[in-house]
Amino acid sequence: MLGFADVLLAGLARDGGLYVPAQWPRLAPDEIADFAGRPYADVALSIFKRFIGDDIAEADLKRMVDEAYATFRHPAVTPLTQLASDQFLLELFHGPTLAFKDVAMQVLSRLMDHVLAERGQRATIAGATSGDTGGAAIEAFRGRERVDVFILFPDGRVSDVQRRQMTTPTEDNVHSIAIRGTFDDAQALVKGLFNHHSFRDRVGLAGVNSINWARIMAQVVYYFVAGVALGAPWRQVAFTVPTGNFGDIFAGYVASRMGLPVARLVIATNVNDILHRTLQTGRYEPRGVIATSSPSMDIQVSSNFERLLFEAYLRDGAGVRRLMAAIAQSGSTALDPDAVKQIGTLFASGRTDEAETMATIADTLNETGILVDPHTATGLFQAKRHTPQGVPMVTLATAHPAKFPDAVTAAAGFRPALPAWLAHIMTAEERYAVIPADQIVLERLIEERTHSVRVGL
Ligand SMILES: *Cc1c(COP(=O)(O)O)cnc(C)c1O
Repeated sequence: MLGFADVLLAGLARDGGLYVPAQWPRLAPDEIADFAGRPYADVALSIFKRFIGDDIAEADLKRMVDEAYATFRHPAVTPLTQLASDQFLLELFHGPTLAFKDVAMQVLSRLMDHVLAERGQRATIAGATSGDTGGAAIEAFRGRERVDVFILFPDGRVSDVQRRQMTTPTEDNVHSIAIRGTFDDAQALVKGLFNHHSFRDRVGLAGVNSINWARIMAQVVYYFVAGVALGAPWRQVAFTVPTGNFGDIFAGYVASRMGLPVARLVIATNVNDILHRTLQTGRYEPRGVIATSSPSMDIQVSSNFERLLFEAYLRDGAGVRRLMAAIAQSGSTALDPDAVKQIGTLFASGRTDEAETMATIADTLNETGILVDPHTATGLFQAKRHTPQGVPMVTLATAHPAKFPDAVTAAAGFRPALPAWLAHIMTAEERYAVIPADQIVLERLIEERTHSVRVGL
């Protein structure tokens, strides 16, 4: 068993598995009720303390959490908007890169820098992105003294705004790399780096993908914040989550294990619907990735789903390892029917296609005057279909509409403007490498550029 700080720096376990806490901390109803009306950073501190324990001094933790959420451009950090009597939107896009990834990344970068400084170490961060993680990671880590950050994105498969957020920072600890391939290729390369132990040790590799436990921990907070605003713990709430790598919705599962009364968690996918099919059929069967207007969900290998399987298999680590090996070997596998049934008691799922996504953007605008991005739209389309009787449904608004202007223009008929404070990236000079999906080429590039080998670990 490892402490929080070790898990924070490691990302992925040495055997390729994912970290989860040894047990879920449980909050009493009174403790949850006490979150109502408190500042976001306060609630975050209370929840983080339950996972971090003594690994980070409380005064340091408080300072980092306050700083992280001060970067958000809304005083509520994650405001809740009402769309209909039982439908709500949780706006997670008020951070510096306009997607929910900032909520976790702003805190993660500060925690990592702090732990590295305490240990007198440096780290090389490597991450794969389907678009939003990369920008959020680069924004959070740019110019920080103890890390180099290498972000891999699929060439030509991210939006202009997403790419420019990654390629315009000028700090020399930022390294953006376009991979000729899909997000899954990029993610497989990063996993390969972590599994190459001598390389991993030489450059002090650390992970910030959604497999990093600290990111999930950070995302648990807004489920509580939204829940108590709608009457929890004395009343149930439901959530619909636009899902790709299953990190965000897994945080909702954690919130429910911690005592938030969650009636239902709806997995909304686009046409890359592996999770929806898995829940329907009990077979886990990846297919080819199809490019959509919600590129951050164009994923067929949903890493964090393994964490839910671990719970649904009643924490049978050996059983889950066999399952993952079977998937790696034959490409697909049948899940234990009891585990699928167990998942179905809390989770529902639905697949939203491109026409439904576009129609939902237009309908939401007509009915409420609110403009949503395509990822959020995949969620809203499912939310209406899966709202339990008498339970408020919260759809997570995962990105700002201006981050995906082409799709939003096509659906809404006008072009959403980037906030003025971000507009400069559209004309700034870009800087990035383009390489094949080849681990040897990637490792050579990282060793050449990282500052972490030279200083010595
Ligand atoms: C990352 C992302 C998602 C998917 O989140 P997961 O945690 O990978 O399931 C959905 N929408 C947007 C805008 C994202 O950036």
